[in-house]
Amino acid sequence: MKKSNIKKEIRLIKLGLIEIHKLQPWVIPVTIIHSFLQSISPFINIYMSSMIVDQLVSARNVDRLIILVGITISLNLVVHLLLKGLGHLLALLRSIMGQNQDMRLNEKIISMDYQHVENSEVHVLRTKIQEAENMNGGGIYALLSYFSILIEGLVIVGTSIVLIKEMFYAGSAIDSSVSLINSPIFNIIFISLLAIGTIYNLKLKQDSERKFFSSFNQVMVYNRIGMFYAEQIMDYNSGKEIRLYNQKDLYINGMTDMVNRFNKVFEEIVAENIKYGAGNGFISSLLSSLVYVFVGLKAILGYISVGNVVKYTGSINQFKRGSSTLLTAIIGLKTNNQYVQLYLDFLNIEGEKYKGTLPVEKRDDDEYEIEFRNVSFKYPGTEEYVLKNISLKLNIGERLAIVGMNGSGKTTFIKLLCRLYDPDEGEILLNGIDIKKYDYDEYLNLFSIVFQDFKLFSFSLGQNVAASVEYDEKEVEDILIKAGLKERLSTMPKGVHTPLYKDFDEDGVEISGGEAQKIALARALYRDAPIIILDEPTAALDPIAEFEIYSKFNEIVGTKTAFYISHRLSSCRFCDEIAVFHEGRIVQKGSHEELLQDVNGKYYELWHSQAQYYNEEAV
Ligand code: ADP
Repeated sequence: MKKSNIKKEIRLIKLGLIEIHKLQPWVIPVTIIHSFLQSISPFINIYMSSMIVDQLVSARNVDRLIILVGITISLNLVVHLLLKGLGHLLALLRSIMGQNQDMRLNEKIISMDYQHVENSEVHVLRTKIQEAENMNGGGIYALLSYFSILIEGLVIVGTSIVLIKEMFYAGSAIDSSVSLINSPIFNIIFISLLAIGTIYNLKLKQDSERKFFSSFNQVMVYNRIGMFYAEQIMDYNSGKEIRLYNQKDLYINGMTDMVNRFNKVFEEIVAENIKYGAGNGFISSLLSSLVYVFVGLKAILGYISVGNVVKYTGSINQFKRGSSTLLTAIIGLKTNNQYVQLYLDFLNIEGEKYKGTLPVEKRDDDEYEIEFRNVSFKYPGTEEYVLKNISLKLNIGERLAIVGMNGSGKTTFIKLLCRLYDPDEGEILLNGIDIKKYDYDEYLNLFSIVFQDFKLFSFSLGQNVAASVEYDEKEVEDILIKAGLKERLSTMPKGVHTPLYKDFDEDGVEISGGEAQKIALARALYRDAPIIILDEPTAALDPIAEFEIYSKFNEIVGTKTAFYISHRLSSCRFCDEIAVFHEGRIVQKGSHEELLQDVNGKYYELWHSQAQYYNEEAV
């Protein structure tokens, strides 16, 4: 690996550890102490056993033996208790860290600029982070695990080297005519054989781990597709389609295919593990025999004590274990870095929107005037303008209808007005000042909006309408009645406190599309903002309910400034002015009567193509 790559990998590990520290400041120190104790504990026994054996075969001093055994037992006990306690503490800290991580990711999604929320790349990024976490805890969580293994590997290798080192000098002072067994050449041969064996073993391990991780990436893709099938089947909307179009086999075949592929990769992983296990076992046995022969010969010739045989063989075995652990940690850290990168990429998604500071003037007279001045816009990452040269002024208290075919840019116009996106060219003004300059939250408070694809949440009806935990019960009720939900409300078991849907509460109620739309309308009215925006607010309503809303429109909107978007022209007649959108441009503007005069205009064309609608309505 190139030096710059190593630097990059180390930097990522460092950044990941900084993130872990932010999520849970105690988890890294406790991990270090735990790993240190975990890896040092076998050496306590190796070291103490060597001293006890020496005492047994030499002086046999009973007092000393008792002291040595006492120290060994006490140390074991202390380390064991510490490890148990720290283990539990670590499990708790890791769990807190995991929860904080989820919170951090969720907070990021909630607070990021809307344009990122609509961006599919951002969704894929979030999904990948989740998948890696689900499958093997890949990412920040796995970084901590590999970091802990790294500490263990380093401590084991370091301690065993310190203990083994003296073996090569042992006895050289005894005999000046150094026998072959104790000669430097023999030592070098031994070390070389040990090194070759260990490196070969590590190489086997490296190949096996690499194969495992590449299989793992494959498994993640199959898992994603499997999850997709599971979600689709669980969704009761697809339940309808699957039954009506008899798509059962399509799903079953797809899922079976995924399960088979999934299993095949697992079979490969198991086969690989068996192969690696056999190779590794063979080399390890050879190495162990070599160690015993070497150390044994030294002991027989009297260069080292019997106790030291225990110490050196134990330490060499630990060295083998430690180097393998170290390799697992290094490969693991390197592979896991791709997931750490995903996590950091996600957190580093920048807020690009300029956030102004200007307070929005509070006006009792609701005199807020909106103007689009030569506004053009294309969605990030796309080439085509969705809105081109839009100029439009909406005077205080006026009602503007925006009509046009699907895809003509009506909703995008509203998204710009609410600053979910900023124009690429031109500007939008509130009372003559660019809306970017206003404090964003204050600016948003000017609007009550019902989007076509509105969303209600699994909270209580009252909380949905008030968009807050606390609400005025009477006010919510009045508004729901105003929005046409009187009858349905009377059937709700807990009135406005009834939970919507059953996600969080078994007593939750299911509501129809039309009812949901009325609740969304009530939410906009509850906000009582000076500017009201209704994007196809009656699309899911039956004609009677729609008529009800229209007839109440004057009452609902009152003196507020209103934007009303619809592709159903009949519903726009009560607006002061109608702007006709076509392919991102305003092609006509005027009152209903004025627009109908232009027989070559888009409005005339749309009106007549929808004539059948009005006949229905007339009926
Ligand atoms: P309307 O409300 O008139 O039906 P929209 O404003 O929703 O039209 O869409 C206008 C155009 O912008 C359409 O061609 C649509 O495909 C495109 N569009 C809408 N949202 C996005 C988005 N998030 N990214 C890219 N293109 C989009």
